[in-house]
Amino acid sequence: MTATPPAAGAAGAPNVLADRIASIRGELTAVGRPDVRIIGVSKTFPVSAIEQAHAAGLADFGESYAQEFLAKVPEMDHTALRWHFIGGLQRNKVRKIAPYVDLWHSVDRSSLVGEIANRAPGAHVLLQVDIFGEEQKGGCAPRDVEGLLGEAIERGLVVDGLMAMAPYGDPEAARPGFRTLNTMADELHLVERSMGMSGDYLVAASEGATMVRIGSAIFGDRAGDRAKAPGSHLE
Ligand SMILES: *Cc1c(COP(=O)(O)O)cnc(C)c1O
Repeated sequence: MTATPPAAGAAGAPNVLADRIASIRGELTAVGRPDVRIIGVSKTFPVSAIEQAHAAGLADFGESYAQEFLAKVPEMDHTALRWHFIGGLQRNKVRKIAPYVDLWHSVDRSSLVGEIANRAPGAHVLLQVDIFGEEQKGGCAPRDVEGLLGEAIERGLVVDGLMAMAPYGDPEAARPGFRTLNTMADELHLVERSMGMSGDYLVAASEGATMVRIGSAIFGDRAGDRAKAPGSHLE
């Protein structure tokens, strides 16, 4: 991986990203969770920023938008990285991105289970659960998780765990929801809990997250992103 100087509008000098990643690891360690996997959410940021974060020791990256993912990932040495598709997913995008996705985080309905099982047999997935009652962010209703899990297993997918997205705002307000997702994963004997973003990863980690999805706290602010409703089904 070459140390490309940051392009105009990129996330900053390499040491800035390395410092941010180190400080997040330090905080996770301080709350007793040095084991949490940090996924760098690189949506809207260029390949050069991903390469800088990788050079700083990050191996896991998350993307939300299929078109953007396809424009970036195949041009990189992507096999050195683990790719998490974390955004709302349309069925017709599955085939194209399937060769590059290591873990699908946003599986929330039967049609997606079927499509991923067809296009990426045996793929590893997380089931996204709408713990916080925010329908526009996707996720199946909590009462439907067990049924969806059964279908996914039936179709040969490997369900590693559950995923949830809290509303923006006070991270403490998200704590009960994170706790609920953690309990659900325990009850279903699932290992992974993908929960926590830039604003609430420490609360999520202290409530059992095994992976946190961190964008802006690593790469910087995404211009105009709040209006775009990250994680929504808009692409
Ligand atoms: C954008 C996004 C993130 C990262 O958001 P930040 O607040 O920038 O950390 C995490 N998860 C999902 C599903 C996202 O869409």
